[in-house]
Amino acid sequence: MSEDSTEHTPIDFIREKINSDNESGKYGNRVQTRFPPEPNGYLHIGHAKSICLNFGLADDYDGVCNLRFDDTNPETEDQDFVDGIIEDVRWLGYEPNEVVYASDYFEQLYQWAESLIERGLAYVDDQDAETISEQRGGFTTPGQNSPFRDRTADENMALFRGMRAGDFADGEKVLRAKIDMNHENMQMRDPVLYRIRREHHVRTGTDWIIFPTYDWAHGQSDAIEKVTHSICTLEFDTHRALYDWCLENLELPAEKPEQTEFARLNLTHTITSKRKLKALVEDGSVDGWDDPRMPTIRGMRRRGYPAASIRAFMDHIGVSKANSTHDIELLESFIRTELNKISLRRMAVLRPLKVVITNWPEGQSDMREAINNPEDDTAGTREVPFSGELWIEQDDFALDPPPKYYRLTIGREVRLRAGYFITANDVVTDDDGNVVEVHCTYDPETAGGQAPDGRKVKATIHWVSAATAVDATVHLYDRLFTDSHPGSGDTEPLSSLNPDSRETVQAKLEPALADIEPGQVVQFERLGYFAADIDDASVFHRTVGLRDEWANIQKRKQNG
Ligand code: ATP
Ligand code: MG
Repeated sequence: MSEDSTEHTPIDFIREKINSDNESGKYGNRVQTRFPPEPNGYLHIGHAKSICLNFGLADDYDGVCNLRFDDTNPETEDQDFVDGIIEDVRWLGYEPNEVVYASDYFEQLYQWAESLIERGLAYVDDQDAETISEQRGGFTTPGQNSPFRDRTADENMALFRGMRAGDFADGEKVLRAKIDMNHENMQMRDPVLYRIRREHHVRTGTDWIIFPTYDWAHGQSDAIEKVTHSICTLEFDTHRALYDWCLENLELPAEKPEQTEFARLNLTHTITSKRKLKALVEDGSVDGWDDPRMPTIRGMRRRGYPAASIRAFMDHIGVSKANSTHDIELLESFIRTELNKISLRRMAVLRPLKVVITNWPEGQSDMREAINNPEDDTAGTREVPFSGELWIEQDDFALDPPPKYYRLTIGREVRLRAGYFITANDVVTDDDGNVVEVHCTYDPETAGGQAPDGRKVKATIHWVSAATAVDATVHLYDRLFTDSHPGSGDTEPLSSLNPDSRETVQAKLEPALADIEPGQVVQFERLGYFAADIDDASVFHRTVGLRDEWANIQKRKQNG
């Protein structure tokens, strides 16, 4: 199912639930959410969905949202990811109520585990992971009790303390909840709560060698922080019973939080899995997590996506209970709409071809006035230097024009944007017959783009004066994956990696672009939106083209 054609409904099922909780006074009208990333990679567009939802709910209901690091897997976690995630959340426009860490609760979680053991609700199992997994059974087959399931509370307590103290090797023992090996929900078949891992942890160092599992850490962390609505993605729906079981069997500091699931964000031509994105970084398929082709928050930022458009897109698609895939063109149309409003217009030539104006008065300099943003009167105008030697796009001249080609060709007159009418008369070619220079004449009466006799031209092209042109490296991007659903079915996502996802050209820019701020996005007239790199403003990234592909997709869908 594609949801792209459905309009955003003002109230979604999560807000409906919060409204009804507020009506019944369940949490005393309090709304507290959290965004709980694992610091094992940088955030991607899927996480942005969860951030906008969790922080957005807190904003809408005068509540608070914490940024909580779910740092229970020491071997894959890293301080750089923690720092980067905090930065990404802020860049997206949200300020966490608090930045907190599941590892801050390790002692409390441990004490709670002991309390389960005391009440016969948890036991130490000596079997290895493989055996435990085999005994779990399947959807149609019952599980099998562990031979260690009936250890006494005292014995379990001594063993669990021994696990913490380092008496056992990694993997030698685990702590399991004692629930029901025949439960219809597989997650409830005596899940593992603690495992032994001698790994250095970013925050707790070597203090702990036993680490809680996701299921033992998550709900309790919610409860400790007094979260009310714990929102996660659909794949956790089978964990909800366990989430509740853990909390129902503990003395909680506040009302019991409740888990609600929503559908993950999927986008065509896009991978939203940290693990797979990490593989692209590690095998050098991209330049890093912040490569502008990456669907990471830092990649999108370097690419020039405004945070406001990402938020507007998330708001538009809303939240759903059913998994679906949105077209990437829809996201791009949000980016384009925002950039159209805010970005300055500039001229740049990506594939330069020299134009010599043969009747230009020798040595004459001239300034043309150009509008900075037709969508914004306050943006004003600027002066663009004009001269007898210009750069135009190779595409804007054809020696042998195809039918309906209205741009420059021998004997044809066109308008130079904010400049004059020019007519092409002659070309200079190289030894292979390629055009290297076009000789034109200009009409001095057409300054500003109108002819006093009212004659019309069919095309307006952009240009840059050669004498004052600024050189720049410009990266043009295409889809990172050619497949619209990379990695679906049996295919490996990497098998549809687009070898032509980046093309780099040496462009000529009008001089105003020498002063651009790092990260600023401008429209290169007729070409698209381009972002100055956040570290080196002489390098540009094409953010998005001018054509609204999304509108075309809609039209095609309507026409069947
Ligand atoms: P990945 O598989 O990419 O590692 P994850 O779910 O394991 O994703 P976490 O760091 O655990 O990554 O995710 C933090 C939060 O972001 C979780 O609540 C998770 O449900 C949510 N999230 C992750 N991916 C998406 C997505 N595609 N759409 C919506 N929410 C997502
Ligand atoms: Mg995860």
